[in-house]
Amino acid sequence: MSKRPSPISATVDFEADGVQHGFLKLPISNDESAWGAVMIPITVVVNGTGPTALLTGGNHGDEYEGITALVKLANTLDAKDVQGRVIIVPMMNAPAAMAGRRTSPMDGGNLNRSFPGDPDGTVTEQIADYFTRYLVPKCDVVLDLHSGGRTLDIVPFAASHALDNKDQQRQALEGAIAFGAPTAMMMFELDAAKLFDTAVESQGKIFVATELGGGGTTTPERLAIAERGVKNFLIHYCLIDGKLESPSEPQVYVDMPDASCYVQSEHTGLLELTLALGESVEKGQVIARVYDMTRTGSAPVEYRANRSGLLVARRFPAQVNMGDTIAVIAEVVDSLG
Ligand SMILES: [Zn+2]
Repeated sequence: MSKRPSPISATVDFEADGVQHGFLKLPISNDESAWGAVMIPITVVVNGTGPTALLTGGNHGDEYEGITALVKLANTLDAKDVQGRVIIVPMMNAPAAMAGRRTSPMDGGNLNRSFPGDPDGTVTEQIADYFTRYLVPKCDVVLDLHSGGRTLDIVPFAASHALDNKDQQRQALEGAIAFGAPTAMMMFELDAAKLFDTAVESQGKIFVATELGGGGTTTPERLAIAERGVKNFLIHYCLIDGKLESPSEPQVYVDMPDASCYVQSEHTGLLELTLALGESVEKGQVIARVYDMTRTGSAPVEYRANRSGLLVARRFPAQVNMGDTIAVIAEVVDSLG
């Protein structure tokens, strides 16, 4: 059954040369605005013919490294420096970003669990559908900038996925390495079915994702990694001229082969991580303790590493609940793919 056209309209012309700042407009009708619209900022920079890159941030609304880097790029990218077309959407889930939340306050929707989307669905599903059926088909390469948000802190890395199409896999991996974050990763997803990643990759497009920090803020160091990486991405895929800027230390390659990389809490309490983000860990080593906050005098529950590797992600808040990811341990490898 074919889907009806998206209710979203764009105020920009994707074919016109030059720089345009506008909106993706999704009609809504609620108590605050009877004939209103969700307004998602978008910038399109076109110069002649060439490849199209789609740069996205704010897929989750509290991941500020990508949002900030893309707002800055949208404000400064000059059409004469581009060959082809760069489409920038710094806040894909604009209602979530405006609220400073991972998910949308309008419908509770987690955009990155809403793909491929639905033109007749919730606001979040309608946004997902527009990307799947209108923006992704225009593109050759997609860079989706994530970070840990308010509840995770993550070693800055760019990642690609293992794919059935090995040429597509290789091209994405080369982009992830060229991004030039301190770490590059072949990433295992706990559940890939409803991700933007999958919506893009299933159309045969090149997809690179990043995680660039977290905690619901930015730091100068991490923002610099994000901005350098976006520029490297555009250079690598021939959208702008320039020389790739490498990280100051040799890049570390890590692999997340399966679910044993994730350590999840089976208790509620006060979390003590015994090692810092980016440190090495041995299988069986105590990596965290969870203390009972309702009483003193009871021993903490210890969590041990299921595997050796690098601590690439950790829970950010000091309080932990059952089911929360405490830590992610990735395997250091000599090469990827
Ligand atoms: Zn995210």
